[in-house]
Amino acid sequence: MLAITPAALLRLRSETRSAVSVAPVKAAPVKKLSRTRREAIVDLLARLMRRAEPTPFAIEGPARAAIRARLCESGWKWGQADAAADEAVQAALSRVGAERPTWQQGQPEWTQEAVLPILRETCARCGKPLPEETQGPTKYCGPVCAAATRVYRRSREDKEEARVKRSIYEASWAEKQPPRECKMCGKSFRPKWRTSKYCSVACGEEAKLASRRGVRMVQKSV
Ligand SMILES: [Zn+2]
Ligand SMILES: [Zn+2]
Repeated sequence: MLAITPAALLRLRSETRSAVSVAPVKAAPVKKLSRTRREAIVDLLARLMRRAEPTPFAIEGPARAAIRARLCESGWKWGQADAAADEAVQAALSRVGAERPTWQQGQPEWTQEAVLPILRETCARCGKPLPEETQGPTKYCGPVCAAATRVYRRSREDKEEARVKRSIYEASWAEKQPPRECKMCGKSFRPKWRTSKYCSVACGEEAKLASRRGVRMVQKSV
């Protein structure tokens, strides 16, 4: 039998890895976001990253794609848009103090070093006892449960990605809106959504109460 030591495995993987080359991308002349716009984007990203699960890096890709798409829509060249998006995402990552795991930390051996793999007796998805002939550590009773878990995880990631994209689109829409007048207190405010009518949650609540009172008054007078 061919035995391979963990050290040899790591070396083998790093060799395979360094052999991969990426087609060169023509560098576009640098174009920069205005300071205020960049600041707004980095702020928003940092806020999203603080909530991201399991780490801020979970939204690194989708955020970059969403910002890039937004910039391309407003006439930026792809390369320039991508560079500016990446710059903003990296700035947000460092603002929230995210530390990228090293490549070695990303390897399965890292987590298994000096730790015994968990030996389960039941399937992590359906709870049925695992078949006895299973060799080594396994989590699922069979390919169906393993695949179902993959699909579930994938759909959760898709939802998270969609949520991040939506936030970025909403924020960039809001940025371009002229101020509106609050229908309750008359103060001028920047709308967050197309349907925003009030400057604050408090004004919105007040309006709801007022309209209920109004209905009651009308009912009484009829
Ligand atoms: Zn199962
Ligand atoms: Zn108001």
